[in-house]
Amino acid sequence: MDLSNIIQQDTIKILIRKSHEAKANAFCKYSHFRVGAALLCDDGTIYTGCNVENAAYCSICAEMTAIAKAVSEGHTKFKAIAIASDLENEIIAPCGPCRQFLIEFGTDWVVIMTKPDMTY
Ligand SMILES: [Zn+2]
Repeated sequence: MDLSNIIQQDTIKILIRKSHEAKANAFCKYSHFRVGAALLCDDGTIYTGCNVENAAYCSICAEMTAIAKAVSEGHTKFKAIAIASDLENEIIAPCGPCRQFLIEFGTDWVVIMTKPDMTY
């Protein structure tokens, strides 16, 4: 998909790299499934996030973490979010609750689903 009218290729690469770097902080001792996200705000600010799990299974996803960080700092207009896992052969897609989180902030922004080889 050509996203060049929405977001520059260089920015896509930065978001993908940051989403994979964000996996390093994943707190996922129950699922052992690391997820990272990098969220681009309309002013160029990037917030990263990772999944944060707990024993009650009311965990929060990487996308939710990134969005919560951004919103708590006053940002509600977004251009793109990149999402990363360690799955070598498949892209990772947002779960249902995350899709609701994303759409609360409009439909005119980009979700970049990635693989560890930086393809998307
Ligand atoms: Zn989710």
